[in-house]
Amino acid sequence: MTHAKTAELLRKPELSNEDIVFLLGLRDPESCRLLQEAAFARTTELMGNCVYYRGLIELSNICTASCRYCGIRRENHDVKRYTMSKEEIVAAAVWAARSGYGSVCLQAGERRDEKFIAFIEECLIEIHKATVSSVLPQGVGVTLSLGEQTPETYRRWAKAAGCPESLRYLARFETSNPELFKVLHGARGDHEKQLEHRFRLLADLREAGYQTGTGVMIGIPGQTLEDLCRDIRTFQNLDVDMIGMGPYLMSEGGELQDFGQMDPEALMQLSLNMIAVTRLVMGPVNIAAATALQAIRDDGREIGIEYGANVVMPNLSPQQYRAGYQLYDNKPCLDDEPTQCASCLEKRIASRGRRVGWNMTGSSRRWLRRNGRPDEAEPAGGLRVGQNDAGRKTIWIRAG
Ligand code: SAM
Repeated sequence: MTHAKTAELLRKPELSNEDIVFLLGLRDPESCRLLQEAAFARTTELMGNCVYYRGLIELSNICTASCRYCGIRRENHDVKRYTMSKEEIVAAAVWAARSGYGSVCLQAGERRDEKFIAFIEECLIEIHKATVSSVLPQGVGVTLSLGEQTPETYRRWAKAAGCPESLRYLARFETSNPELFKVLHGARGDHEKQLEHRFRLLADLREAGYQTGTGVMIGIPGQTLEDLCRDIRTFQNLDVDMIGMGPYLMSEGGELQDFGQMDPEALMQLSLNMIAVTRLVMGPVNIAAATALQAIRDDGREIGIEYGANVVMPNLSPQQYRAGYQLYDNKPCLDDEPTQCASCLEKRIASRGRRVGWNMTGSSRRWLRRNGRPDEAEPAGGLRVGQNDAGRKTIWIRAG
């Protein structure tokens, strides 16, 4: 019986590649429930009960890369290109800090020109200045997701961010299968992506002081369970601190429509299994419940939390820009305001037995341990955040 074998594997202290492939392929409800329960329990044991918010600011969709799966690839001329102003970016970060988010994530298409590098540097300096407070003494934590840059640029941005304890960078390698990687990034040119560069940049980032995050897309046409197992082994070999994985979803603006997309129900289960098995293998890393899960099912991110994720990234981009950041079709929350997103998400997270880590920067415990730091404590007295009736001005209240 599948669920008897699942239960047996879940008791093992270490999983072999064969075990991982078996668990990733689970489909029957009883076995999936066993996997989910094991991953949730392991997350509680290693990471505690909190889910951390990273307020996502999609600051520009201008991109010099040509990733064939992506709706904002440079060849997609149907996209109206935008870059948020410095004031808008800083305002979104300040809103996040005042609303109790311990950190924000700045994401954009890839640019390596000096104008862009200096612009990000200025934004980081301003964000830091505007968000240092007694609650966040280093200012709001910052995760950057701005693609491949030079070690010099990573160092410049790290210095500008001014928050060495909560400075992070996320760069997915998308798949560890070199052949599949080539199919996904088939274009020519010096700066086109190469798998080896993706690995190298994670080492450069660590050297520059960042907590490093990576991830893959799940259900890429042609990808096998063995590929996903190798992805997990690659996370281990790279010894990353954070992982952001989500289902591959077809994009009208991409170039892979002819290959189709997995059936949504199977894709959802495979993505959840990948989160759960990654948690079991990787231990105390941060794992994000990707927005793409919500594109398949309205409660996709919450189910991701049940399967072992402990980070969510509520979208804080101003509404007028959201339609321009369509990485894949049917991206959710196009019309939601950040205030709506945050309050509804808190209830949804509570419904799954977790609570939001208000005002916590939520560093990966793997990183804290590697660097000899203690686990982050919840703010004294259970400080949490509340808003007045107008939903605008933030006030601090004591929980309980
Ligand atoms: N340019 C930066 C980089 O490549 O790291 C960050 C922006 S990029 C748009 C962020 C992530 O979006 C990629 O790492 C990729 O995994 C994801 N993405 C793009 N197109 C997608 C699709 N069709 N389905 C699922 N995820 C997608």
